[in-house]
Amino acid sequence: MTTRFSCTGCGKCCTDHHVPLTLPEARRWALGGGQVIVLVEAFLRDGEGPSSLRLPADQQEHARRRSLPVLCGQAPAFVSITFAAFNQGRCRNLMADNRCAIYEERPLVCRIYPMEINPHIPLRPEAKECPTEAWDTGLPLIHGGRLVDTELASLIEASRQADRDQIAAKGLICSALGIRTAALKGDGFTTYLPRMDAFLFAMDQVERKGSVLNEEAARDWSLHIPDPELAQRLAQTGAMLEALLSNDCVFISLRRAAA
Ligand code: SF4
Ligand code: SF4
Repeated sequence: MTTRFSCTGCGKCCTDHHVPLTLPEARRWALGGGQVIVLVEAFLRDGEGPSSLRLPADQQEHARRRSLPVLCGQAPAFVSITFAAFNQGRCRNLMADNRCAIYEERPLVCRIYPMEINPHIPLRPEAKECPTEAWDTGLPLIHGGRLVDTELASLIEASRQADRDQIAAKGLICSALGIRTAALKGDGFTTYLPRMDAFLFAMDQVERKGSVLNEEAARDWSLHIPDPELAQRLAQTGAMLEALLSNDCVFISLRRAAA
């Protein structure tokens, strides 16, 4: 089976989508006057937690490699941190004619869309923003289950590698910004909108000192679980729970989004 694709330039993927950024991209975004949003999720080690939210074994390996080993109270956990361009409405770089103002320097993820970064998520055209006609025409994108464009495959691998290589630095930056509360993977994300001067300062500090994870950055994490029943079950694992979020943190539910 062959999946064809040709971008129609509709601009939908550049609207209301927070675009994940590598660390150098996040720095450029902040320096250029953009806002970076921090999205945090965690899963408990050894598959603890409710079975409905437990990751299958093969997905755990992928998730662990891009996560930070931390302690949530007594419970060992893995925290994933995403720095993303905060795109509420149209991206700040999306011009009136739907072209990208920074096309040559656009973030890696913008070059990869509509492909998935996670190797365990198959491409589902119906789940993407692209209009039907984008899938009806163009060159073959996937043939026989394999990506045809080797350059695109390299970009996807570069994005995965950046996720793995940069997680320690992201953990230290979050520690410096006081970001310590995660949502449970599958339940949602905790999201933060740090001041960009503080964000850039934290980035500079981490770059200067080196991104070797220290004990301070890896302890005293907590989980925000809005569902009281789920919270009670997780408390039995020794996980530290945060009932109320600080003013700078918002919970985005994946359950509501999926409903
Ligand atoms: S940077 Fe360019 S390609 Fe990326 S979301 Fe913004 S407008 Fe779209
Ligand atoms: S949503 Fe799809 S078709 Fe529209 S601009 Fe983005 S990649 Fe192109």
